Parts: sequence; C-alpha cells; structure tokens
Amino acid sequence: MTLQHSDVLIIGGGMVGLCIAHQLLERGMTKSVTLLDKESELGRHSSGRNSGVLHAGLYYKPESVKAQVCVTGAQRLRAWVEERGLPINPCGKVIVPPRPDLDSQLDVLAERGRANGAVVELLDESQLRELIPEARSASGRALWSPNTAVVKPITVVQRLKQELQERGVRFLNGQQGWTAKPEHQHLLLADGTTLHYNHLFNCAGLQADRVARPFGVGRQFTLLPFKGLYWQLKKDCAIRPRCNLYPVPDLNVPFLGVHFTPSADSGAVVSIGPTATPAWGRENYRGFQAVEPSMAASNLAVLARQYLQNRGGFRRYVHEQAFLALPPLLLRAAQQQIPAIRAEHLELSSKVGIRSQLFNRNTQRLEDDFLCLPGPASTHVLNAISPAFTASFALADLILDTAEPGMNLS
Ligand SMILES: Cc1cc2nc3c(=O)[nH]c(=O)nc-3n(C[C@H](O)[C@H](O)[C@H](O)COP(=O)(O)OP(=O)(O)OC[C@H]3O[C@@H](n4cnc5c(N)ncnc54)[C@H](O)[C@@H]3O)c2cc1C
Repeated sequence: MTLQHSDVLIIGGGMVGLCIAHQLLERGMTKSVTLLDKESELGRHSSGRNSGVLHAGLYYKPESVKAQVCVTGAQRLRAWVEERGLPINPCGKVIVPPRPDLDSQLDVLAERGRANGAVVELLDESQLRELIPEARSASGRALWSPNTAVVKPITVVQRLKQELQERGVRFLNGQQGWTAKPEHQHLLLADGTTLHYNHLFNCAGLQADRVARPFGVGRQFTLLPFKGLYWQLKKDCAIRPRCNLYPVPDLNVPFLGVHFTPSADSGAVVSIGPTATPAWGRENYRGFQAVEPSMAASNLAVLARQYLQNRGGFRRYVHEQAFLALPPLLLRAAQQQIPAIRAEHLELSSKVGIRSQLFNRNTQRLEDDFLCLPGPASTHVLNAISPAFTASFALADLILDTAEPGMNLS
C-alpha cells in the first residue's frame, strides 16, 4: 500500500479538467498536479465526441456565465490550435429561421451576440445564397457569424494531454473503483494506493453529480443524459455547405437543433446533427451498451412531468427535437435548412455523443448555465454543457478565480 501526495487532484480528463491543469501551471499556482481518469485513454466522452464547433457566443444571455467565458474562450482555444498547426476550419456560421414566425429570434441572437462581444451580421437572401447556394431561410433573412470555427476535438484533447505530461502533470488513466474519503482529503484507489490532495477538482462530466455525492455536494441535482447521433452527407452528394448552417434555436431549451457542420480538415465530411434523444444510460453510446434501467425509468418520469407541465417550453423540445433520431424526421429538419437534401444523400455517421444536462429537483428545472459548487477542500463542476469545450480555457480561469482563496496549496 503506497501513499502519494499532490497539491491538486483533478478527477476527469476532458477539456475542463485538462484546462484546469493547464491554467494551474500557467498561473504558477502549483506544479504538483495529478489528473485521474477512469478510461485508459482521454477523449472517450463529451470532449472527444462533440461537433468541434468553436461557438462565437451568440446564444447566451449576457448575464450568464456562458456569455462571460464563451467569446474569450473561443479566441484562446482557436489561437492555441492555430499555434500548433492542428486542424481548424475557420468557415463561420449561418443561422436561418426554419419558419417565418422564428424570424424575430434573429434579432434577439444578433443583440445577444453583440452584447457578448461577438461579431454578427444580418444577411438578406442573396447574401445567404452567396455563402450557401442551397440554403433556405423561411423569412428571407439570416444571421452570419464569421468567427465560428470548427476543430477536431480528439486532436485537441490528445495534444493538450501530451503537453501537460511534458510539463510534469501526472496522469493516472484507467482508474475505476476508487473511493473518496473527503474527511481525510484522499482518494483510495482500487490497487490500495492512497492519493492525498490539498484541493480536488471534480471534472467528471457525465458522472460529475455522482462523484460529488460523497462530498455532500449538489444532492438536489441529477444528470439527464441525451444521446446525440450524427448523420453525414455521402461523398458523392453535390451539396456541400462550406460553412456551418444552424436553425434558429428555441432559446428556452439547451439544444441548438440539428445543424450542418463541415469538418475541420477542409470540408472532407459534412455532418448533420447531433440529435438530442433521452439516452438509456449516461454512457449508452450504442445499442444496449451501459444501459442503466432504473436511471432511465426515473429520468423518463422527470421528462414526462416536464412535458405535462410544459416547463420552459419543454413540450416544444419534445415535438421538435426528441424524435429526430428517426431518419424521416431528421431528413425533414435538414430540409428546412436545405430543401434539396434527399434521403439518399444521407448516411449514419459513426460519431455519437451524450450530453449531460443537469436537472434541479428543487426547482424542477433543467439548469441552463454552467454550475460550479464548492465542497470540502474541493470544487465540483456540475453542468459543463455546451459551449464548455469552446470556453474551456476561460472557464478554467473562472473556476480557479473562485476556488483560489480557499485552496490552501503547499
Ligand atoms: C454531441 C455533443 C456535441 C457537442 N458539441 C459541442 C460543440 O460543438 N462545441 C462546444 O463547445 N461544446 C459542444 N458540446 C459540449 C462539450 O463537448 C462539453 O461541454 C465538454 O466536452 C465537457 O467537457 P468535460 O471535461 O466537462 O467532460 P468530458 O469530456 O465528458 O470529460 C469527463 C471525464 O471524466 C472522466 N470520468 C467520469 N467519471 C469518472 C470517475 N468516476 N472517475 C474518473 N474519471 C471519471 C471521463 O472518463 C471523462 O474523461 C457537445 C457535446 C456533445 C455530447
């Protein structure tokens, strides 16, 4: 049995955990950092499976934490990717209303974008067609975000890990079955090793609420998993949008609607998705893999209540997005943006992700913003939803600013 010590122990090596490690070093707060992950390789969950879109900051209410970190986070991650010559497609993004009654939302998004410091421009139909000739706007207007870019998420995760390792961060991968002992500030690993820390960051993504529980943190929250499937345009399809194409979203629900995203490596693949269908388990990426029947049953009960009470316009999400995993409905959603798309143009992509959406049992609402809670000698990042990948460097700084006064590093 061995005893090891780190100033900081991070649970979870997605972008949030990696960026916290990075900023701890950059800010000179400590060099003694251990990052522990249950998987043998990083990037197996959201940070390696997302759309790779560096969001420009249009969607978020100006007073939200998302708004506070998205624009600068996107600029920092983009610069980091470009400095290293990693794949990036600086193609921009167009948002179109799929129905005429959603036209006024373009003005809301433009206003929010400007308030958040993003560059946005309203387009007429001919300007839209210059960007994507096949695209359609139900109202004739569209919104252009020139600073949206696409990167390859898994490449970003792997490179960041490699650099942190070279700078002395200790990675413990494949660590399952550990036990937290918050009262002693240590984790007991399955092989009997005791990992002592001065401060712990819980960045466990889809499992963050479960990791928080022994610390007595966030008991009113539970995570609802939503599966995101992607389709892609077949190689021989002549329609190839060269920039991102998104529908105007329902700003009351946390999903942006299925969208067209060219890949980071010069438009080789155009994906369509992700869908947002309740998943049968937090890591239920395929078939019956990692199904959690009791969690699925209680989540469905929560969602049914949300539907009946129509909290936050939840019924509209169900009608418009919950069944998009069904190919005819996905096709219809895609055709609202590009009418010439046909079923024979689409094939299912191997890419699939699961979004963790935090539900607050006390308020009976889905949490819309990032949520970070303090615990004993620890900090718990409970709702690192989109755009946490985009914002990760700036979000890490914000988390450290809040945690630093109580961190008690040696
Ligand atoms: C389909 C999809 C599309 C998205 N598109 C975008 C996008 O285009 N742009 C954007 O900005 N954001 C997007 N997001 C959101 C973004 O991916 C996430 O906000 C972000 O990756 C969250 O990072 P994270 O580090 O919190 O979580 P994760 O990447 O999930 O990392 C958590 C880590 O914790 C580890 N872990 C979990 N439990 C334990 C445990 N008990 N012990 C040890 N380790 C544990 C996991 O193995 C994992 O490595 C998307 C998400 C999805 C699912």
